[in-house]
Amino acid sequence: MSPERFDGIFFDLDGTLTDPFEGITGCIQHAMRGVGVPPPVQAELAWCIGPSLHESLCVLVGPSRADEALGLYRERFSRIGWRENRPYAGIADVLRGLQQQGGRLFVASSKPHVFVDRILQHFELAHFFQRTYGSELDGRFADKGELLDHALGELDFSGSNCLMIGDRSHDAVAAARHKMAFIGALYGFGSRDEYESAGYGAWAEEPGQIPGLIARA
Ligand SMILES: [Mg+2]
Repeated sequence: MSPERFDGIFFDLDGTLTDPFEGITGCIQHAMRGVGVPPPVQAELAWCIGPSLHESLCVLVGPSRADEALGLYRERFSRIGWRENRPYAGIADVLRGLQQQGGRLFVASSKPHVFVDRILQHFELAHFFQRTYGSELDGRFADKGELLDHALGELDFSGSNCLMIGDRSHDAVAAARHKMAFIGALYGFGSRDEYESAGYGAWAEEPGQIPGLIARA
């Protein structure tokens, strides 16, 4: 469909608009060391990019130390980690083109919205979006399905007339729960299996393929 036919087009942030590998994995290492758990190398922490961080920290350091680790993570992330991030090549052109075609663009990230907005402004992407949705620091809306529930309700949009673009299984599962169309950002941190198991078969190998996939959605 042409972009303006959707009530809203929702983009995930990490692994879809920007590559946060350096910052997220570096902050997890910092948090693990802080609670006395030797961290693996950064490449072995890439699976943590996308899902709720608290859940990943429960796996990495155990539930009893996850809250303390999350505090240490955020201390480094708010100071340094949020900037150890870069927009994917071509993503600004994609957003500009969709906006020019009348697309109503939104961000839906499980990251706290204070960081979402700071990152989008720093990389000059904020002006493409009508609204951004993220989690609260207390963990509310860290689940992508609940976040989309909140966003769709507030915007008074029908999920079946919206599109989600994200790189991980939780993006696809949340989209399916709300009967949204979905495009996988395969250049991020997920795999085709993660989209196919949620019932979707469209994915972009690079950002430049997104407009063509939206036209065929
Ligand atoms: Mg993601």
